Amino acid sequence: MKNFNYHQSTEIRFGIGRINELAETVKKYGNKVLLVTTATTNPAFEEQYTRVKKILRDGGVEVAHYDGVIPNPTIESITAGAEIARNFGAEVVVGLGGGSSMDSAKAISVAATHEGSCWDYLFYKSPQPDPEKLLPVIAVSTTSGTGSQVTQVAVVTNTQERDKSALYNNILYPEVCIIDPELMLTVPAFVTATTGFDVLCHAFESTINPGTGAYVDLLAWEAIAIVVKNLPKLLADLKDIKAREKMAWADTLAGLCIANAGVTLPHGMGMAIGGMYPQVAHGEALAIVYPAFVEFTWEAAIPQFSKLARILNPELNAVTDKGAAAQSQNEICRFLKQIQLNKKLRDVNMPENEIEKLADQCMVLPDYEGNPRVATKEDMIELIKSSF
Ligand code: NAD
Repeated sequence: MKNFNYHQSTEIRFGIGRINELAETVKKYGNKVLLVTTATTNPAFEEQYTRVKKILRDGGVEVAHYDGVIPNPTIESITAGAEIARNFGAEVVVGLGGGSSMDSAKAISVAATHEGSCWDYLFYKSPQPDPEKLLPVIAVSTTSGTGSQVTQVAVVTNTQERDKSALYNNILYPEVCIIDPELMLTVPAFVTATTGFDVLCHAFESTINPGTGAYVDLLAWEAIAIVVKNLPKLLADLKDIKAREKMAWADTLAGLCIANAGVTLPHGMGMAIGGMYPQVAHGEALAIVYPAFVEFTWEAAIPQFSKLARILNPELNAVTDKGAAAQSQNEICRFLKQIQLNKKLRDVNMPENEIEKLADQCMVLPDYEGNPRVATKEDMIELIKSSF
């Protein structure tokens, strides 16, 4: 067997009704909580904020609510949250929401306790955050999802530089995460589809990353099978709690995969798209680039692409591995149509004259280097043209 490492320090509390344990969980770390969420115009989701604040206050916890997170959170939105955390004297930060809110909670923990802004502590910068100073973070996921509840990553957008990058450090794992599928019943169809596709991407990319190993492999293929079976079902009935539960589990498995193996080319491209065009949802950016990525890469990882194609279409069990892998682009396109995410960059208003600039940006993060076939600048331009 190939040698591997596996690390996970977040306590996982999974299951329907577990949100009721939030106050008791928080009190292990402190009595003053900054609750970090997006603002929402969705009354059903808003009700959950009220419910969570009641759970905390009834449990004897003092709460300040920062609802200034924006999808694809920015340095400014994190700085504003950090200021509230400092003024309030927060002892714990609770991120309640999708990846944007949970990542913001992690970045606020850094920004509230360190000099400068969160951007000064990106994964490649020095010094890194001091673990002694950080506020403990509790992540409550409401999408399935980015896996952020079990990762050491906080993704941030620098609006001025049109750049999206990440804080990445093992000290950023949330202390505890609560994954309660009931909180996900209000997720609208588009967010269900984009976040659900992100789960498949996390799991699949971790299997082709050189950092993969037996443990990650085990989790990743289970996650992929769950998404393929349950995401279309869920989109047909957004209130299907069993399918929500399955997707929440797949999201958690895939989060554990990326925390240990990492992602590859499509995520590097997706981050660049999100940085330059923040109106594009993270999972939407991935859906846009996946067909081109699959066509570019399949011959360099036939065992994984054939397995993916066969999960998407079991009839491919009758053909050779190479034959099945060769069909993986068709199968991904079919799946994307099924979940209504068959889109191109032109559909999300990317200007055609920025193809080369986007190609440069796709090569800033090291993700593309972990792909089984490494793209040159010319390849990257072709990948973007094909996604356009
Ligand atoms: P999101 O957090 O941006 O949420 C999308 C929208 O859905 C928001 O408007 C939010 O208010 C709404 N929403 C969330 N939960 C809801 C619910 N239960 N009911 C109704 N509405 C709800 O979306 P996301 O895809 O979960 O997160 C994307 C962010 O996470 C991006 O910045 C991405 O880069 C980052 N990300 C982080 C990691 C990581 O490991 N930290 C991994 C992948 C992506």
